[in-house]
Amino acid sequence: MLRASHSLGVIFFPAYDWSISPTHPEREERLLYTQDQFREEGVFDIEGIGEYRPLVASPEDIARVHFCFPSVEAVTTHSHHISAGGAIRAAGLVLDKERERAFAIVRPPGHHAMRCVHGSRGFCNINIEAIMVEWIRERMGNVRVAIVDTDCHHGDGTQDIYWHDPDTLFISLHQDGRTLYPGTGFPAECGGPKALGRTINIPLPPRTSDAGYLMAVEGIVKPILDHFKPDIIINSAGQDNHYSDPITNMNFTAQGYARLTELLGPHIAVLEGGYAIKGALPYVNLGIALALAGVDYSAVREPDLDPERIREHQSTLDYIKALCDHLPQVYFEPTQREEVEREGRFFVRRRSIFYDTDGITENQIERLRDCPYCPGWLHVESASDRVPKSLGIHVPIQGCDNCVDEADALFRKAQADSSFAHVQLIDRVRKRIRHAR
Ligand SMILES: [Zn+2]
Ligand SMILES: [Zn+2]
Repeated sequence: MLRASHSLGVIFFPAYDWSISPTHPEREERLLYTQDQFREEGVFDIEGIGEYRPLVASPEDIARVHFCFPSVEAVTTHSHHISAGGAIRAAGLVLDKERERAFAIVRPPGHHAMRCVHGSRGFCNINIEAIMVEWIRERMGNVRVAIVDTDCHHGDGTQDIYWHDPDTLFISLHQDGRTLYPGTGFPAECGGPKALGRTINIPLPPRTSDAGYLMAVEGIVKPILDHFKPDIIINSAGQDNHYSDPITNMNFTAQGYARLTELLGPHIAVLEGGYAIKGALPYVNLGIALALAGVDYSAVREPDLDPERIREHQSTLDYIKALCDHLPQVYFEPTQREEVEREGRFFVRRRSIFYDTDGITENQIERLRDCPYCPGWLHVESASDRVPKSLGIHVPIQGCDNCVDEADALFRKAQADSSFAHVQLIDRVRKRIRHAR
């Protein structure tokens, strides 16, 4: 009988009763063929691989990460709570040492959801990886986390949430933003002033296949991961780099994904995108699961695979080779690449954010306290087509006493200020979430 060399828990949550619309690519059937494939291939007959039910994330689990305006209930469905709960279940299995690794094969996805949420962006309402990571930290304290996002789209939501966190390394490999939604994810985006070099963006040319993708993993991701020495490695395992994906332009294969998983060795993988329901997901999910478990995956192969047809040009490999030569500097020699606006003791970011799925425009001003003792508390003034000006205040888990007090004082002042429609305080030091209106 086959035996896993790393015990693995798999959590399925297909959300069969939920979709954005009946013909939307992020659809109910996405996990249908994967479930069949796992049964056919006898994945759960392998000793050391077991299937688990998801948990349901609580409103507090979500409000620990997000400012949901007007409320958590207004911007989520029960399926979102279970999708995030599937990721939490995966983390619980690993933390409790019930399984060495875990794979949450869940939907709806989450990596485009930013700190503030007014609706759905890129099919995402809440960030299921961030909710999982902060659930872990609520239990374990401030562990060092690396999140490697291998979805074809830039993980702009996860980047936003961890932009100012020096203890979270976020690495996104994606199809170049000049050719794909959301149009961001360039090397110059490398973290906020207090967390420089903790955000790493690796834009890859369209039609990159296995050789180029894996070259970037070995030449850029691996040396940075090895140096950062995270306590936990998480893979946002989007599968839309596959050559058959209908909404992207890459040429990655199931074998490539399996090898990538083997190289990263994540404790937890969480499904993100991937829209070739029949042609990619069953094989890619199988390859990832076997690689996570340390079981031979060499027989995993798409029936229509033609390696010659999808091989990248030499010019693509040359381009990625050049990326491997200079991109690690973003981490190893971090420098401020973009102009940072200041207002007294605060760093300021002004942004306009478009929610393509829901057609909402949000405008926000974020102010981060430039604190000499910790990464600094922040507050965000946010308004959208749906919600009038509201305020979110965040004290990071590393926050110093002074930052806790300053954030508290602003919250009390905002409680009495009727110009804010909603006010939320997330204080990770004292483990408090407070709402005023
Ligand atoms: Zn994607
Ligand atoms: Zn501080």
